[in-house]
Amino acid sequence: MKIDFANLQYQHELYNNEIEEAILNVARNCNFIMGSEVQELEKSLEDFTGAKYAISCSSGTDALILAMMALDIKPGDEIITTPFTFIATAETIALLGATPVFVDIDEKTYNIDTSKIEEKITPKTKAIIPVSLYGQPADMEAIQTIADNHNLKIIIDGAQSFGSTFNGKTDSNLGDISTTSFFPAKPLGCYGDGGAVFTNDEKLATKMKQLRVHGQNERYYHKYIGIGGRLDTIQAAVLNVKLKYYKKDLSLRQEVAVKYTKSLEKKNDIVLPYVDDKATSAWAQYSVRVKNRDSLQTKLKEVGIPTAVHYPMPLHLQECFEYLGYKKGDFPISEVVSNEIMSLPMNPYISNEDISYISKELI
Ligand SMILES: *Cc1c(COP(=O)(O)O)cnc(C)c1O
Repeated sequence: MKIDFANLQYQHELYNNEIEEAILNVARNCNFIMGSEVQELEKSLEDFTGAKYAISCSSGTDALILAMMALDIKPGDEIITTPFTFIATAETIALLGATPVFVDIDEKTYNIDTSKIEEKITPKTKAIIPVSLYGQPADMEAIQTIADNHNLKIIIDGAQSFGSTFNGKTDSNLGDISTTSFFPAKPLGCYGDGGAVFTNDEKLATKMKQLRVHGQNERYYHKYIGIGGRLDTIQAAVLNVKLKYYKKDLSLRQEVAVKYTKSLEKKNDIVLPYVDDKATSAWAQYSVRVKNRDSLQTKLKEVGIPTAVHYPMPLHLQECFEYLGYKKGDFPISEVVSNEIMSLPMNPYISNEDISYISKELI
C-alpha cells in the first residue's frame, strides 16, 4: 500500500488530453504574456465566485502584496492577522513595512478568534487579514462588524479556500479584497505558480490591474510603484480546463472529508476537523489533532501513509519575527495546535479502501 497525498498525477491523467492541448496551443500561438486565455480565466473566475472583479496574478503571495498595495498599506501601519497560517500571510505585511499584529485562534476552527480582535486595535490599525485555513473561511460576519465599527479594511487570505462559502457567499466575494493561490497542491492548482485577487470595488480592481504591471496606466507611463505580477498564459490555459471540473472536485473533496469523519469519529484521542454551520470548506486539508503526532507520523510513513504538518511553528515564534517581541505562551491555542496538528492525505480521488486503511492504521 502506498498512498499519494495530493495525487496530482491522477488529476493530470484525468484531463490530460485537454490540458496538454491547451498548453500546446499557447506554445504554438506564442502569446505567453497576457494571452486571451488570461481574460477568459478572469471572466470564468468572476462567474464562479460571484465577485465582480477577478484579477489573476503570479502567486498567492503576490496576490496579498497587490491587495495591500491597493489599500495603501505603508510602514507604520498595523495589520491584524492569525499566527497560525503559512508564512506568506504575515511575511507580505512585513515586506511592505507594516507590522503584523497577531491574535490567537479559535480552538475548533483554527481560524482567527474574532472575540480577541478588538483588544488589539490601535489608531495605527488599518486592516484585518483573516485566513481561510484548511479551506474554511473565518467568521466573516463578526469580522465585517468589527471592521465596520473601526473603519478597517478586510483582506481575506483565501489561498487554501477557493470555492468555499460563508453565509452562502464564496470567500472570494467577501471583505474588501480576497486573494487565492493556484499553487499546484492547493484545491484549484495550476502547473506552476499562480494566484488571483478578487474585489467588488471598481477603483481597487483598476488599481490592482495597474499594480500588477509595474503600476502602469499606459504603456511605459507609471502611476504607481508596482510589481511584475502577471499570471503566465500557460497557467491560465491549464486553469481554464481545470476550472470547468472544479465544482465536481469540490464535492468529491467534501465526500472524502465526510467519509474520513465517519470512519474516525469513534476513535479516542483524536480531534477531527470542525466546520461552522455558516461555512463550507474547500477542504484543502483534512487535519486532525493527536497527542503523539511525531511518532504517529513515523509509524504511518512506514505503512505507506504520507502525512504533513500545517504548520509546526506558529508565526509569532519564527526567527524572522523575533523583532516583533512575541514570546512562547503569547498565543497558547496556536502553540498547542501546532504541536498536535497533522494533515491526512487529501484529494478528490482517495478511494474508500484508502480511507478505511488510513483510519485503521491511525492510532
Ligand atoms: C499557499 C499559501 C499562500 C501563498 O501562496 P503561493 O501561491 O504559494 O504564493 C498564502 N497564504 C496561505 C494561507 C497559503 O496557504
